Amino acid sequence: MDATRARQRLQDAQARQRRLAERLRQAEADPVESGELSTVDQHPAELGSETFERELELTTLTILEGELKDIDDALGRLDHGTYGICEECGKLIDEARLEAVPWARYCVVDQARIEQALSRR
Ligand SMILES: [Zn+2]
Repeated sequence: MDATRARQRLQDAQARQRRLAERLRQAEADPVESGELSTVDQHPAELGSETFERELELTTLTILEGELKDIDDALGRLDHGTYGICEECGKLIDEARLEAVPWARYCVVDQARIEQALSRR
């Protein structure tokens, strides 16, 4: 992939994820202020789903932060001229894969192998 285009896509994704993470953090810090919690006529049964929503927000935040780290690393690789090279086997990552996941660290083969190893734990 063209480095300029890759950088553009990574920076776009970074800005988008940062905004999302920021919004989630605000909701987390001040649920009433951000209108996440309707405190007045709350039915007890709805409290459970609020808790679930907050857990979901926290999970989403964790995923977002992981992706932001990946994007950051990918931008670093662009600077060092190692962008698009698999961190495992050193081969070039598929164009189509970089098109779908611009911050991919591994080629399809290694990604599948790593995911399989993780799921076997
Ligand atoms: Zn590889």
